[in-house]
Amino acid sequence: MRPLLIVMSAPSGAGKSTLCDLLLQEFPEITYSVSCTTRAPRGEEEDGVDYYFLSQEAFEQHVREGLLLEHAEVHGNRYGTPAEPVREAFAEGQSVLMDIDVVGAASVRRYVAGLPAGDPLREGFVDVFVEPPSLEELRRRLVGRGEDSPESIEVRLRNAEGEMARAHEFAYRVVNDDLRQAYLRLRDIVLLKGGAL
Ligand code: 5GP
Repeated sequence: MRPLLIVMSAPSGAGKSTLCDLLLQEFPEITYSVSCTTRAPRGEEEDGVDYYFLSQEAFEQHVREGLLLEHAEVHGNRYGTPAEPVREAFAEGQSVLMDIDVVGAASVRRYVAGLPAGDPLREGFVDVFVEPPSLEELRRRLVGRGEDSPESIEVRLRNAEGEMARAHEFAYRVVNDDLRQAYLRLRDIVLLKGGAL
């Protein structure tokens, strides 16, 4: 496969993390881009594995020093993609998977569009929006996973509406109704863009 820069966005609870995990399991040549965030670790999350957990000051310094490929505020916290690992992975011919919000995805889209034709990052860019079947189903899933307070669920649902209104910006959309079907569609997109189909 040619190296891909795979950007995945979705409203919280749409099943994006599960789809990302399945992709990483099947394609070990894809590197997961570990983001920086100012939010506190949740549950079993590990620093340097799930996220780089930074203070507000440290995050701000990363921004000032131009270390982030993109950054955005999501649900009241800041998130950003370290640029260097993405460049390194590409230099080694590896693909990169970024799990970022719609604002970050738009920044990366703009960034790659500004690169010269033929640049591997531009050629390998593929953006996928994962959609829940409906907002009602999303609410059921968020309540069902029991990770968020009722207030946080309301915030996430409000944000979901805004995110879903930007789904058309993405080249590919995957409705996660049935996980297996959704994964097969994602897999086809990756194989197609990677030149393996
Ligand atoms: P969570 O806090 O639930 O792990 O993530 C919340 C949201 O932040 C998700 O939509 C996730 O895709 C997004 N996110 C995670 N890392 C980044 C990043 O580096 N940049 C941007 N723009 N969004 C991110």
